[in-house]
Amino acid sequence: MKLKFNLVTQILIAFVLAIILGSIFGSSIDFIKPLGDLFLRLIKFIIVPLILSTLVVGVASSSDPKQLGRIGLKTIAYYLGTTAIAIIIGIAVALMISPGKGVDIPTANLEVPEAATAEPQSAITTFLNIVPENPFTAMAEGNILQVIFFALFIGLAITFVGEKAQPVYRFFEGFAEIMYRITGIIMKFAPIGILGLLAPIIGQYGISVLLPLLKVVLGVYLACLLHALLVYSAAVKVWGGMGPLHFFKGISPAALVAFSTASSAGTLPVTIKNVNENLGVPNKISSFVLPLGATINMDGTAIYQGVAVVFIAQFYGLDLTLMQLVTVVLTTVLASIGTAGVPGAGMIMLAMVLSSINMPLEGIALIAGIDRVLDMMRTTVNVVGDASAAVVVSGTEKVEDKQLGVVES
Ligand code: ASP
Repeated sequence: MKLKFNLVTQILIAFVLAIILGSIFGSSIDFIKPLGDLFLRLIKFIIVPLILSTLVVGVASSSDPKQLGRIGLKTIAYYLGTTAIAIIIGIAVALMISPGKGVDIPTANLEVPEAATAEPQSAITTFLNIVPENPFTAMAEGNILQVIFFALFIGLAITFVGEKAQPVYRFFEGFAEIMYRITGIIMKFAPIGILGLLAPIIGQYGISVLLPLLKVVLGVYLACLLHALLVYSAAVKVWGGMGPLHFFKGISPAALVAFSTASSAGTLPVTIKNVNENLGVPNKISSFVLPLGATINMDGTAIYQGVAVVFIAQFYGLDLTLMQLVTVVLTTVLASIGTAGVPGAGMIMLAMVLSSINMPLEGIALIAGIDRVLDMMRTTVNVVGDASAAVVVSGTEKVEDKQLGVVES
């Protein structure tokens, strides 16, 4: 316990140091960026083997296929429900704050970021793409949904085959333990890595970059906080039987890593570690709920969409009809399924949402300059949302089997 507390404190010190160094040295602090990149690479390199091994073990150790189906349905229902609530909160807060009124940004030379103009996939292609043509390509490319699909099948088949498949099961079991241990080792480097990630960002975003769009930042941050404090607190308390304070404290290292990296997929190893060790969720639940959430559940991103749509409409003096708002809610919930948990992915979704209600795509360029600052907060909520799902599903399943989820740090 002492060690965990120390890690969070160390990370917080890194945060404060990053703010001080970034403010003093501006962009010349860039030279410490490789430390941040190193940390990012370290946590990314275990993602695929970690998901594969923990999910295989999680599925294979569950003797009841019906329970697996129930866990799947609950998870998806929770993800869709909370994302819908998130976007409604985002829109409501933005309507109250009016971030786009009285803003003066010259639009003449703004360019829509290239990624945001890319053609989004259709819903059918998104679903078809879950099935890998080649599982090894899926792993090599780090396609999380495809790896989940592969692992689910191996796990199920191990259960069906029985005795003969036991050596394979034990292999994955040992492999998963090794991956947990590597995550623990990497986390010791987290404070330095986070310093390397944050200080250059703070150096880059002086107050002058943020000032004209301060209300957008305020809107996104406020709505994110409201969503986390209201929705997640209530959910973990009511369905998970867990005190909100305990929940937020347990997930705080992952939340801080998410804030620094702006990638929920990148944070995944830390999320799994925190949810298993600090929140006591069994591996059979976390190994499925968390990788899936890092890929399809994005409450923070949905909030950002809501605020951004209202901002852009107000900036161009357009009125949003109720029908348009309902369309925004539906498109955002669906679009989040196809979006990767990597930095900036939410901007691509914003293009989809804007075009669904015929709003000018150029609007994206208005806030693209501060996207990273918004991304950090929305990713934090994305990750905390995934963790809340694990607690909720685990609470409702009342699974006692903590054996596989408990790992030393
Ligand atoms: N960066 C976010 C995430 O990884 C996605 C986004 O850009 O909204 O969860």
